[in-house]
Amino acid sequence: MRIRQLPNDLVNKIAAGEVIERPASIVKELVENSLDAGATRIAITTGAGGKSLIRIEDDGYGMGEEDLRLSVERHATSKLPEDDLDHISTLGFRGEALASISAVADLRIATRPRDEELGLQLRFVDGDAVISPHPMPHGTVIEVRELFKNVPARLKFLKSDRAESNAITDVMKRLAMSKPHVQFILSGSDRQTLNWPAQPVSDAEDDFQGDKNRLGQILGLDFAQNAVPIDYQRGPVRVRGMAALPTYTKANSLSQFYFVNGRPVRDKVLLGALRGAYADFLHRDRFPVAALFVDLPSQDLDVNVHPAKAEVRFRDAGLVRAAVIRGVMNALDAAGFRASKTVSD
Ligand code: ADP
Ligand code: MG
Repeated sequence: MRIRQLPNDLVNKIAAGEVIERPASIVKELVENSLDAGATRIAITTGAGGKSLIRIEDDGYGMGEEDLRLSVERHATSKLPEDDLDHISTLGFRGEALASISAVADLRIATRPRDEELGLQLRFVDGDAVISPHPMPHGTVIEVRELFKNVPARLKFLKSDRAESNAITDVMKRLAMSKPHVQFILSGSDRQTLNWPAQPVSDAEDDFQGDKNRLGQILGLDFAQNAVPIDYQRGPVRVRGMAALPTYTKANSLSQFYFVNGRPVRDKVLLGALRGAYADFLHRDRFPVAALFVDLPSQDLDVNVHPAKAEVRFRDAGLVRAAVIRGVMNALDAAGFRASKTVSD
């Protein structure tokens, strides 16, 4: 067989395999886009666990015609204006999501920038993007239908509507925790409506009431009443959040939420550091509930290591680990849980 260059739609389909694993991946990518577009209110509607419908409506910047056309192209993004991968401040940067979604589902985009009279709609007709005028309020509405209709292998691996809808709820909880000043509404025929109202923005630098309120809304009153606030700085690393008292624990780490520079992540360094902070108080098989927000200069962090951007790499993992351990231990100490042995940091 001779080598050949693959056609564009096949390239997109292959790329989609990495980014779009299940309906929750689409929700994550689209809500991240809404957040990057400065939205203050994001409404998500799902049908059949996202298999039949995912609809995201935001009040963000919207797109003009040229941007709308480019938005569904692969490797097309407004988020790397200086070609600078070392200073990423947006959730997106890969320019892959919309192209990938369009390769494995029916995608429709309606959008209207604030300064335009009329919106625009993009649909695919026989594989080609077609744009037409579309009256609407400012912002963007994206609809995804018939996910994986042309990828039977993936379709087969999707779980029940309920399981997929739970995965969407989980993704939304994480995003909502990291953005307390944005309102999120999650509804659909397949679920009970969740509405997280926007927390007021305060001028005070050290005012975390909004963050705490949002965490309480999502993790429950029990958690809020059994958790200590964390706010600690070591060198360039800041650690904030809330961690449960050693008396309020779970049988697994599913109730631990980690964010780096506002991005929900899975991370072994952070997981290990949290465990380290509780080493004196918890048995190996108990896990604290916690939401930890780690912020550090973007050049000390590589966010470009995972297709779905769920993992990051720290330039100085030891420093991050030490900051988390000390930040959490200080907070527990202030609540009367004093570690007997000194944990090395
Ligand atoms: P990325 O987010 O990595 O740039 P995407 O494929 O997710 O790639 O989106 C492509 C581009 O489409 C974005 O860079 C952005 O300019 C535009 N876009 C996507 N969603 C929205 C939205 N909800 N509001 C405004 N612009 C959007
Ligand atoms: Mg994106």
